[in-house]
Amino acid sequence: MGFDLERFVGYVNEGLLCCVCRDVLERPLQAPCEHAFCSACISSWLVHHHSCPEDRLALDVGSLKPLYRYMRNDLSRLQIRCVNAAQGCEMVCSLESLHTHEDECEFAYVSCSNTGGEYVCYYCGCPVQVERRGLEAHLSECNFRSRECPNGCGHILLTIDQSQHNCVAELRTEVEMLRAEMLCKVEEVRREMESRLDSQRRHMVQKESLLRNEVEELKGQLSRVMCDIRALLGAERLRRQEVVEAELEKRELLELLRELRNAPPEASHLPLHSAQATHASGPPSSPLLGEGPRKGSTRSLTLDCLKRKSREVTVI
Ligand SMILES: [Zn+2]
Ligand SMILES: [Zn+2]
Ligand SMILES: [Zn+2]
Ligand SMILES: [Zn+2]
Ligand SMILES: [Zn+2]
Repeated sequence: MGFDLERFVGYVNEGLLCCVCRDVLERPLQAPCEHAFCSACISSWLVHHHSCPEDRLALDVGSLKPLYRYMRNDLSRLQIRCVNAAQGCEMVCSLESLHTHEDECEFAYVSCSNTGGEYVCYYCGCPVQVERRGLEAHLSECNFRSRECPNGCGHILLTIDQSQHNCVAELRTEVEMLRAEMLCKVEEVRREMESRLDSQRRHMVQKESLLRNEVEELKGQLSRVMCDIRALLGAERLRRQEVVEAELEKRELLELLRELRNAPPEASHLPLHSAQATHASGPPSSPLLGEGPRKGSTRSLTLDCLKRKSREVTVI
């Protein structure tokens, strides 16, 4: 779509008009047949046609080229009125600098910049459109200005909501929310602690049963050891008794020996006499220590035999 011819001040060369819309070329392109068009106009034409709209020569998008440089220069030097002329803008400038002006034209309509603050969604923002030159005045009275509550509750309020704002109600809602949040957190912590305790308890029970088993085993070992000790004590008692008996036997034997020595020489051919004498002259008690009860009983038999012989000798 080109620029309305009416907006131009002074004569406009017909070669600078679009062959489609008949207005002054906007972002112009040129066909090989040298006919020129606004780029939007020729693009939409070529969607349904494959020829130049002026002379019907074959044409496609790929063969379109920029306008000759001299024509572009002519075009950019054309004097045009601001698009906001109807609102009162009296600006007339070259087509080249038109965009720069219109971007900051004081008569252009702009949207209010109050979007309602961070607490309100974008679409709830101020719907007002004002001329750029009136924006500041509007902002100072815009219903969508946001500011902190003047009563100090800390809420950010839109001017539009301020009349209905109730600090106590707002704060109560907030406290309720915080309380619910806190309860939630407490419950969460409680559940976590409980599960941790539970696992600890299970662990302790396991350990306890292990310890119990160990104690039972130790008890068994202890009773076996006690048994052994009792047996050893019994054996020790027996051994002591044997030693006492052996001591007695030795004394008797020594006595017997003495008797035999004092007896008449006919009795000296006794077969056991020399052996017993050797024994008796050795270190006292040592040969008898550590010898089992079987040997002791043999000795006792020998002793009996010796006693008998000695009596026979005395009788003779
Ligand atoms: Zn056009
Ligand atoms: Zn043509
Ligand atoms: Zn303007
Ligand atoms: Zn506003
Ligand atoms: Zn308040």
